[in-house]
Amino acid sequence: MAGVCRTLVNNMSATKKHANLAAALTELIGPANTTVEDLPEIDGCRPAVLVMPSSHDEVKDSLKICADYDASVAPAGRLTWLDCGNPIERADVIISSRRMDCIIDYSPADLTATVQAGVSICRLNQLAGESRQWLPVDAPGTSDDTLGALAACGVSGPLRYGFGTIRDYALGLKLAHANGGESKSGGRVVKNVAGYDMTKLYVGSYGTLAIITELTLKLRPMADGQATLAIISRARDSLFELGTQIVQSELRPASVYIIEGDFPDVAPGSALLVRFIETREAVDYQIDRVIGLMDGRFEFELLSDERAAAAWLAVANFDRSEQVAVRWSVPPSNTRSVFESINQARSRTADLALGIIRGCLQCDSGVANTIALLRERAAAAGGHLFIEKAPASVRRDADAFGDPGAARRLMIAVKEKLDPLRALNPGKFIRGI
Ligand SMILES: Cc1cc2nc3c(=O)[nH]c(=O)nc-3n(C[C@H](O)[C@H](O)[C@H](O)COP(=O)(O)OP(=O)(O)OC[C@H]3O[C@@H](n4cnc5c(N)ncnc54)[C@H](O)[C@@H]3O)c2cc1C
Repeated sequence: MAGVCRTLVNNMSATKKHANLAAALTELIGPANTTVEDLPEIDGCRPAVLVMPSSHDEVKDSLKICADYDASVAPAGRLTWLDCGNPIERADVIISSRRMDCIIDYSPADLTATVQAGVSICRLNQLAGESRQWLPVDAPGTSDDTLGALAACGVSGPLRYGFGTIRDYALGLKLAHANGGESKSGGRVVKNVAGYDMTKLYVGSYGTLAIITELTLKLRPMADGQATLAIISRARDSLFELGTQIVQSELRPASVYIIEGDFPDVAPGSALLVRFIETREAVDYQIDRVIGLMDGRFEFELLSDERAAAAWLAVANFDRSEQVAVRWSVPPSNTRSVFESINQARSRTADLALGIIRGCLQCDSGVANTIALLRERAAAAGGHLFIEKAPASVRRDADAFGDPGAARRLMIAVKEKLDPLRALNPGKFIRGI
């Protein structure tokens, strides 16, 4: 591609540029893995080409071609959540990791695995499960979500209190950069970083700094016990009090959630869900302790494994049939006041241990203003608000991430260093990145 002359590219019509770009990518990746038809729109942008490389080198070389053609790139996994964050400004090419589904190395003795970015979390957990290990991340979406995308979005789910986020499990990354370069961060062992941990920079950067092509992940041993209590009361206040008491006790729950709204399989109104994942003895002891704390004041049910799994999946995907969902992160002591202040939310959940509240809002013409108001309240409560899901017009008006304050300059400087031409998901992250 060294032969592509920038002046020539600049003088080409957009159609000609896209045709030449598609031809060059097809030559590299092969016609079976390159497509120019029926491509999905991303926030109003219609990409010209979708390529599905099978290796790190193919991703890197695809990016080099895109750079030669001054083309912007939307990194992707299975393309299920491309319209997240702020609306992108342009996307000429989608580079999907769908064919990069190789588990490169799995070392049960070290509790680590190295995978290509397109491996799904379900596939990794199936393999690790044979050695009674797992990656305990229950992000929204499906079990087919690619690990590259999960890391790019820095996701977590209801297991976060007990087990952390994917950022806690990413030991190392292999990266392909916008200019066709490459780098590695971290390594394959648990203690491997001296100085600034670059892996943490890329995790959660929404594909705006580089394409993740490989990940080395730390795994956890599977506990032999788990149980979920669904506790019901008409008085939501008392559920908050009990939940807070559990969080502040010596108990070690994996999740403590208040849920309300569209959770028909769990409870018609409000419920407190408490989950323990430990040895069987520790789980039994803690369930008894919670029953003791209830002191006969609540109705409760110990959910079967099947119902518990369905309930937690519903909590992670609480917005499945809604168009607008937002998430607050506030100091845990303010969880209740924020939860109660969003009585316009149709469904809402609150992680009492971490102060993470999620709510679905009516998608009407005033929703951007409502979000602005709620964002002010979040700031007053010492936290911030993130738009998880909304039509592009709403995310454009209200900004998915809000103002990062003083960190903004630093973030822009990092983007300028790693992707100076703003080729990767331009505009998706904090405004302008
Ligand atoms: C707050 C939040 C809420 C979510 N809610 C839902 C939900 O309700 N339903 C759902 O299906 N998913 C949801 N997701 C997304 C989900 O958790 C996964 O991130 C996503 O579904 C993974 O699927 P995918 O492989 O199709 O990713 P894609 O949709 O292909 O990509 C998702 C994002 O990751 C980037 N990306 C993908 N792969 C890479 C890579 N290798 N390198 C760099 N960047 C990459 C993309 O540019 C895009 O921004 C949510 C994510 C977040 C952060």
